[in-house]
Amino acid sequence: MNILEKEVEIGGDKMDKTFIFGHKNPDTDSICSAVIMEDLQKKLGIEAEATRLGDLNKETSYAFKFLGIDPPRKIDKVEPGSNVILVDHNEFSQSVDGIEEANIKMFVDHHRISNFRTSEPLFGFTQPVGCTGTVLYTLYQMNNIEITPKIASLMLTSIASDTLLFKSPTCTKQDIDVAKKLEKIANIDINEYGMDLLKAGTDLSDLTPEQLINVDAKDFEVNGVNFTIAQINTVDIDEVLKNQDAIEEAINNEIKEKGLDLFVFAITDILNSNSEIIALGKRTDIVEKTHKLENNRAFLEGVVSRKKQILPLINNNI
Ligand code: MG
Ligand code: MG
Ligand code: MG
Repeated sequence: MNILEKEVEIGGDKMDKTFIFGHKNPDTDSICSAVIMEDLQKKLGIEAEATRLGDLNKETSYAFKFLGIDPPRKIDKVEPGSNVILVDHNEFSQSVDGIEEANIKMFVDHHRISNFRTSEPLFGFTQPVGCTGTVLYTLYQMNNIEITPKIASLMLTSIASDTLLFKSPTCTKQDIDVAKKLEKIANIDINEYGMDLLKAGTDLSDLTPEQLINVDAKDFEVNGVNFTIAQINTVDIDEVLKNQDAIEEAINNEIKEKGLDLFVFAITDILNSNSEIIALGKRTDIVEKTHKLENNRAFLEGVVSRKKQILPLINNNI
């Protein structure tokens, strides 16, 4: 290695390499999409590495084990000037530490655009569909790149996870059509595999209350109100609520530590498609504009999607 090469090396990684990651507290779509994007970038001749901003949850672990694919390595921050690609998110509050000083080359997502600011022009591609995996399918088509069985299996995993096997209101006809094509390429029955995948994610038995409320937590800021919406999937809401006291203690600690105005913890029944929420913080009045809380809880009939149902409910009441 010559001196010039050494100068551009930071933390063992060359600056010109592009880092790809989904949001913090990564879910299955975030991890799968990063690995898919690495494949796409490499096929386009760009040196890129899929990474993740947190531990694998049980659902994601199940998927990578089942598919026999190595999950990406974890990173905590990026150095100033690093080239990065964001998948499955765009809000800086959900992104890697150091994102403000990074060189964002691209983002591919299926969420609202919020608090997103760059100094350079970039490639941004979003579609209002059920998961980033489906958006990436479109990008492969646009670039005329063949989807291998491995990539198809990852896209299918994203679809099954984020749409709760087509039951979430975020699911679109596009997700269903793409899944049918991917099933053939991957040779996987999505209904069978998807149910095993979702069930693997409902095993919450060995999680501490602190871990439980952070399995899938996202931070938001709207008009100066800082709030977190965390969500877990279960097949038995009452089983989770047995620990309500300990869960509330963990939430209150988090509120204090992060200076949050509101914390909403959604316990989602994936079989019956309902959620029970626990809401705490000094701005629970926002939730109570539409849902009366009893014992800090409310039952939200037919609600399973944070993005399409819970977040708008809070957003519209701020
Ligand atoms: Mg996600
Ligand atoms: Mg997603
Ligand atoms: Mg999700």
